[in-house]
Amino acid sequence: MFGEVISFIKDKFGTNDFIPLHAPVFAGNERAYVMDTLDSTFVSSVGAYVEQAEIMMAEICQTQRAVAVVNGTSGLQIAMQLAGVKLGDEVLTQALTFVATANAIQYIGAEAVFLDVDCDTMGLSAKAVAEFLEEFGEKRENGTHNKKTGKKIAACIPMHTFGFPVHLDALMAICTEWNIPLIEDAAESLGSYYRGKHTGSFGQLGVISFNGNKIVTCGGGGMIVTQNEELGKLGKHLTTTAKVPHPYEYVHDQVGYNFRMPNLNAALICAQLEQLEAFLANKRVLANEYAVFFESQGIKFRTELEDTQANYWLMCVELENLEERNAFLKATNEAKTMTRPIWQLMYRLPMYKHCYRDAQKNAEFLEERIVNIPSSVRQ
Ligand SMILES: *Cc1c(COP(=O)(O)O)cnc(C)c1O
Repeated sequence: MFGEVISFIKDKFGTNDFIPLHAPVFAGNERAYVMDTLDSTFVSSVGAYVEQAEIMMAEICQTQRAVAVVNGTSGLQIAMQLAGVKLGDEVLTQALTFVATANAIQYIGAEAVFLDVDCDTMGLSAKAVAEFLEEFGEKRENGTHNKKTGKKIAACIPMHTFGFPVHLDALMAICTEWNIPLIEDAAESLGSYYRGKHTGSFGQLGVISFNGNKIVTCGGGGMIVTQNEELGKLGKHLTTTAKVPHPYEYVHDQVGYNFRMPNLNAALICAQLEQLEAFLANKRVLANEYAVFFESQGIKFRTELEDTQANYWLMCVELENLEERNAFLKATNEAKTMTRPIWQLMYRLPMYKHCYRDAQKNAEFLEERIVNIPSSVRQ
């Protein structure tokens, strides 16, 4: 079974060796920039590449500010703090996500509320959020509260699954109506656009990841993006130990974090970002070829929705049911063609079992059917 799928993928990657899901490509100025940091000795918390990476990201995302951080998870944590999320608050998000989204909420001491996703985007459903708020939301002077738990609903964090943008217009309208800050977990969606605007730039804050398996990488790293200059400034301050500028004294005006991106990693991401457009075009070619092929096989291949441009970070197919999914995973992995199911829903994990969740009809449907297939940039 799935012999034709396996041959097609092997042919696309021109090899019979193991084909990973997503391998990084270092084909540009990576070596030159990294060597430059070594030659200058500025490998750590000071150096020109950090600022350069922030300028490049603000330009790509068309935001007022971009703040480089040590990884996407820390970026989410700080974004929540900037948005005013506090100990004991509730944060609305999806259960169909990578664990980092839920972990970051936990680091703040807030509680995740898992709401369903839309089947078409695989991201947080505006309808699910609206229904939850109509049932439990209570508008108070200092923001919306959950009238059942008494807790403040302090943020809403949709995630753009595999780089497919959520329905941002609808989500933003609901968050505005209920006065709830929107933070986009755009960790997977660098290079993805919704109605011509970059994902991550719609919410009060957005967070992008440069982990090793993302569309561009610097080993580990992330970026907080925002249209709010003040929040950007404060984000930079908080992630760099809250140090007040002084020629030699140690002055810190609040509890800050050492979440800064080292210059060594920033050098790498600058070189990677220079190639982003080429990577996006390269992946789009593969996505188009997959779309035609899977159509011929009667297998659903996920393509971008109207009004959006997906980055095709991790491409995926939707199998008919759990049995077919399992057969697909087994056949492809045995043939050294890596495929992987979408994440287990967060409330299946021991530490998030107790969290509130709605019916999760779509999330559970997708959990049983979505499988990622090899999606690397081809050289
Ligand atoms: C990768 C990822 C993160 C976290 O990024 P790191 O840089 O690995 O910390 C957060 N959310 C989602 C959805 C991700 O895929």
